[in-house]
Amino acid sequence: MLRKKIEAAKELNQIMSDYYHELDHASKSKDKKVAWCSSVGPAEILRSLGFEVYFPENHSAMLGSSRMATDLIPYANAIGYSPEICSYLTADIGAYLKQITPLSKVYPDIKSVPKPDVLVFNTNQCREVQDWFGWFANEFKVPLVGISTPRTVDEVTNEHITFIAQQMENLVKPLEKISSNKFDIDIFKHIVALSRECSELWKKVLETAATMPSPLTFFDGTIHMGPAVVMRGTQQAVDYYKILLSELQERVKNHIGAVDGERFRLYWEGMPIWGRLRHYSELFASLKTCVVASTYCNSWIFKAFDEKNPFRSMAKAYTELFIVRSDEIKEKYLNEMIEFFKIDGIIFHDAKTCPHNTNSRYGMPQRLEKEIGVPNLVINGDLNDLRCLSDDQSRTSIEAFIEQLEES
Ligand code: SF4
Repeated sequence: MLRKKIEAAKELNQIMSDYYHELDHASKSKDKKVAWCSSVGPAEILRSLGFEVYFPENHSAMLGSSRMATDLIPYANAIGYSPEICSYLTADIGAYLKQITPLSKVYPDIKSVPKPDVLVFNTNQCREVQDWFGWFANEFKVPLVGISTPRTVDEVTNEHITFIAQQMENLVKPLEKISSNKFDIDIFKHIVALSRECSELWKKVLETAATMPSPLTFFDGTIHMGPAVVMRGTQQAVDYYKILLSELQERVKNHIGAVDGERFRLYWEGMPIWGRLRHYSELFASLKTCVVASTYCNSWIFKAFDEKNPFRSMAKAYTELFIVRSDEIKEKYLNEMIEFFKIDGIIFHDAKTCPHNTNSRYGMPQRLEKEIGVPNLVINGDLNDLRCLSDDQSRTSIEAFIEQLEES
């Protein structure tokens, strides 16, 4: 075993199983309403109104990691969704058209994704979530509501926050009607407080990787981020990250690295390649290289949540995200991460179907290298469509990149 196993994975599997079974139960019994939410959408409002909250992006990542996605994408292409656009969207619609789900592989009693009563998006990450959810709203004949966020934001101003907070407040009335529950500001504040606590713990988990050797890899992060994505705003997520954090702190105390004999420390910028997590994890570990941190896992750290000012703080938290920001702000952030995690090199993943989470196309790697002298490598691939990736080519480039680090 080249990468050390995290014991807390047992608890993780249990709470993820509970989460998906609760959704399945709500969908079948109709005793609770189900809301589909984009990954950085207003989950706290939905939870406070008693919805079970389902995240299609998490389902699409499962389609990727189970390597089902590549075969399903053509079914969405056949109804007019281009192979060039988001392969989360095309894989998810393809899976629905074929009536299959990776959930059934993990939980044989779950036969389908939960049926939505409403779909809720925020275009802070991309416009694709609106198109994707719009297709399902039409298919299930249920309402689609959402928030439009400006993109390429430089400083997040009071005007931005007012504009977005107002849209969030405007969601309450229609969602009250769909949920048949009355909005209670105290419940909402409590959920925002739980999201903040989850986010703070997740940040501490990721920051353990600043230690040398790092107790954690990016590949562990992509698995253990599950509760921060789909269960933020719940006590279960908070409890889980306390367990995970304590295991990682124990590793730090005992100088146990996730990768044996860590020689180099890399930063991963861009989407994971879900169908190749194990492949890359083992490749880097065999080169005694630890990918210690990533923008992707960091994206579920929301510093602004404040239960005293729930709508405005949520608006701020969901607009301060890396993906929403200008290149200038992104470069400043990456500079800080490189220094904090003591990074030797950056891997930029150019994901063919996600321009929004690809930052290597407008000269950013070159600017960063010039400014801080940290070398980089761009890998061409995709989050879900494995036809966009050449394993041999990326292996050769990674090995050459490590050799370059050895020589410098
Ligand atoms: S950010 Fe990229 S991967 Fe995520 S939904 Fe948007 S286009 Fe798809």
